[in-house]
Amino acid sequence: MKIIDGKAISLEIKNEVKKEVETLLEKGIKPCLAVILVGENPASQVYVRNKKKACEYVGIKSLSYELSSETSEDELLKLIDSLNKNFECNGILVQLPLPAHIDEEKVLLAIDPKKDVDGFHPYNVGLLSIGNAVLKACTPAGCIELIKRSGIDISGKKCIVVGRSNIVGKPVSMLLTAENATVTLCHSKTKSIEEEIRKGDIIIAAVGKPNFIKGDMISEGAVIIDVGINRLESGKLCGDVDFAECSEKASFITPVPGGVGPMTIAMLMKNCVSACKSQNC
Ligand code: NDP
Repeated sequence: MKIIDGKAISLEIKNEVKKEVETLLEKGIKPCLAVILVGENPASQVYVRNKKKACEYVGIKSLSYELSSETSEDELLKLIDSLNKNFECNGILVQLPLPAHIDEEKVLLAIDPKKDVDGFHPYNVGLLSIGNAVLKACTPAGCIELIKRSGIDISGKKCIVVGRSNIVGKPVSMLLTAENATVTLCHSKTKSIEEEIRKGDIIIAAVGKPNFIKGDMISEGAVIIDVGINRLESGKLCGDVDFAECSEKASFITPVPGGVGPMTIAMLMKNCVSACKSQNC
């Protein structure tokens, strides 16, 4: 059994992005990401800080907008509109969740799809579904990178995705299909889910339930990618996969923390450079 090291793979990707940024700088192009945070959600503050740190590491300029929780939807939409028109800014990231009085869908729709580095805009989701996306949702794209960079061939494999959210389950299913996997997408209404999971050569868990996938639900030699981030009462982080049990049978498995988590920001950096290139080159 091999533990997939998400920290090492994400660093590898950030170093590749850093090189691409250096090449762009030689041409006089400096990639730039606008990061918008509304309110004082402590978890969001940490995510935003980490995103800005990653920008610094790879050489992307970051424009930071930390707005009060009283900011109106209209003010936020105006800021997005001005960033859409700002040629210096290549990517726009609005940290979710937004305060309850702001309509998240309206905000995500307002971002120019060419600057949608999270890959959440329906235009980019559409491109992903037809296999033509430039800006792919970061966490799903990160899962694919983890698998490929571990030397695992996806083509022809039976992949079981558990969870069908718009930000993880559905897009990762589409990306796996594009890699020629045969995909089963499971959710809370799936009958005999254990049987389905047991058929998987590759299992992607994005359920949001601690230790949901037990050792007896997987087959010998399965590849396990655990997207889940759950905080236990003890304060400890835990995935959707029972790591102790599943690592006994898996051929490859991601830990939590240190698996999929660090990949999301690395893929965000990659998207920023892709957005910058498609706007400038
Ligand atoms: P959602 O809550 O949006 O979706 C959960 C999915 O799991 C739903 O499709 C739901 O089914 C399904 N589900 C829930 N209970 C069951 C069950 N008993 N049996 C089968 N399926 C079930 O979660 P997200 O996709 O946003 O996130 C999933 C996990 O990934 C969370 O722990 C989250 O914190 C983590 N995450 C990690 C990221 C990272 O950077 N590493 C990024 C994003 C998320 P149904 O649709 O039928 O309700």
